[in-house]
Amino acid sequence: MSGAYTPGTVPTAPYGWNQQTSVSPASPYTPQPEFVKAPYELITTVVPVGPHSTRMVCSNCRKEITTKINKKPSTMAYITSFLCCVFGCFWGPCLIPFCMDQCLNVEHKCPKCEVYLGQYIR
Ligand SMILES: [Zn+2]
Repeated sequence: MSGAYTPGTVPTAPYGWNQQTSVSPASPYTPQPEFVKAPYELITTVVPVGPHSTRMVCSNCRKEITTKINKKPSTMAYITSFLCCVFGCFWGPCLIPFCMDQCLNVEHKCPKCEVYLGQYIR
């Protein structure tokens, strides 16, 4: 069966035929839109935050707020905990660093819009 052409159907144009007619031959060079990368906007914490809730103006909702704090274990907590494990104190004592204030970083957030405002790193 070599009959690729069946009567009644229009043979399809080779791939790209339609595209070729739409391209104007007068301009062989079509300038491509250049993607200019916007310089990275570095968001920095202007107000230095401490280990406790701080009164400040939220950078997002522009309201005067008292920051909501969230304590998270710092790298030191993980290191201390790891050392505890290495030196034989298992589950009980190695979790102590995660409860010690000295080993926790304090994350400040806006209580109204929940935007991250800064972190107090020990
Ligand atoms: Zn806010």
